[in-house]
Amino acid sequence: MERKKAIGIMGGTFDPIHYGHLVTAEAVRSEFGLEKVYFVPSGNPPHKDPKEVSDSQHRYLMTFLSITTNFYFETSPIEINRPGKSYAYDTVKAFRDNFPDYDLYFITGADAIKEILTWHRVEEVLDLCYFVAATRPGYNLDDLKKEELKVLPPEYLERILIIEVPAMAISSTDIKKRVRERKPIKYLLPEAVEHYIYKKKLYV
Ligand code: ATP
Ligand code: MG
Repeated sequence: MERKKAIGIMGGTFDPIHYGHLVTAEAVRSEFGLEKVYFVPSGNPPHKDPKEVSDSQHRYLMTFLSITTNFYFETSPIEINRPGKSYAYDTVKAFRDNFPDYDLYFITGADAIKEILTWHRVEEVLDLCYFVAATRPGYNLDDLKKEELKVLPPEYLERILIIEVPAMAISSTDIKKRVRERKPIKYLLPEAVEHYIYKKKLYV
């Protein structure tokens, strides 16, 4: 039997996007044979203070600049064009409607997967897609599945997949701090994004 076609959805604030995000998406793409990975910058992140998040146009453009060198990567403005708060549920539902014949893989870091229990309509999200939790330094993934997520019914737990990606201690928070402190950010993110940050005087 032929395997079902599949695509990935990588949601994030991407303020800024960095090689942690890109390496993770590429690892998941290759591991699960995804046809494409769509990067979806968030509009108004429900869990973050709007004052602390850069304009969505900047975040979208930095994401766009980052994916040009990968044939399999695309960006989607679906969340930034949607008024009101961004919920993963609405995004996954929109992809489900647009790609009815595909398996959907929602890609997150292991830290973010711990938060899913607090998400809006989490069980409905898990009805629509698989979740892939990528390792991030400092997170023990076996414990995660055994302890934190075991409150989920087993049929949902099965839809959460865990993969290890090359350990990358890169975070947007750290990059912003480095810019503020005039420290280098070179080699932590694509060069075009580095230039964009300086040109637009972001994070100063
Ligand atoms: P912040 O420092 O503000 O938390 P971030 O670096 O985590 O930012 P986000 O845009 O919040 O960036 O992350 C989007 C998704 O990418 C989340 O699911 C997050 O867990 C994951 N992610 C972020 N950094 C890494 C990394 N270095 N390796 C693997 N996954 C990551
Ligand atoms: Mg984060």
